Amino acid sequence: MIDTHTHLYLDRFDEDRSEMIERAMEKGVKRFYLPNIDSSSIESMLKLEAEYPLECFAMMGLHPCSVKENVEEELEIVKKWLNQRPFCAVGEIGLDLYWDKTFFEQQKMAFKTQIQWAKDLDLPIVIHSRDSTQEVIEILREVQDDKLKGIFHCFGGSVEEANAIIELGFYLGIGGVLTFKKSGLDATMKEVDLKHVVLETDAPFLAPAPYRGKRNESAYVALVAEKMAMIKGISVEEVDRITTQNALNIFEKVNI
Ligand SMILES: [Zn+2]
Repeated sequence: MIDTHTHLYLDRFDEDRSEMIERAMEKGVKRFYLPNIDSSSIESMLKLEAEYPLECFAMMGLHPCSVKENVEEELEIVKKWLNQRPFCAVGEIGLDLYWDKTFFEQQKMAFKTQIQWAKDLDLPIVIHSRDSTQEVIEILREVQDDKLKGIFHCFGGSVEEANAIIELGFYLGIGGVLTFKKSGLDATMKEVDLKHVVLETDAPFLAPAPYRGKRNESAYVALVAEKMAMIKGISVEEVDRITTQNALNIFEKVNI
């Protein structure tokens, strides 16, 4: 199994990080993909990657919630790192209209700028989108060149939105929301072919049931896989096989 989106480097795991990673490995999680947030998270992320060179893979990017007055400086730092060493993806990048709309224009600029860098480096992108699915889809339609690919992380939308994203060549990142009652995501997933899906936790956020509201951790990606297996009427092993292959396809550069 692969956790395609997990912030294991955050200080919420300082107390028990290695035990937590051990628990995930015991559940069969073999790889952990680490999305960056902003300049303040780079050091701890790269340190963790260095400690687990075969399991943890860092992305580089500026999260839309970190787009503020200093967006230009933050982007410079992302650019510097992208040109300095290999990363598995540009992420997480995107739009967020839920927390703060003040910097929406800057968010769009930062998103498009980082998409261009991903194209230049032939890297996938990992997209964060909250209350902004249509806006993100519009931007992707503008920039899609049949080569750009990636993951629409923490997808929780309708069948129509899922199809629009799939048509653009993107995978849907499915996490704990799938286990939430009334999320409606189970109904959407019934209609979506698993060949377009990868699994994630977004740890320490969005823990699946029965841990909803608690700290999330990568071992719980197995709970998402179990729920998906129930919804699709197939075995957990089959869900694992398909979604793991999808994840490897996306992050192929580091998997050669
Ligand atoms: Zn995230």
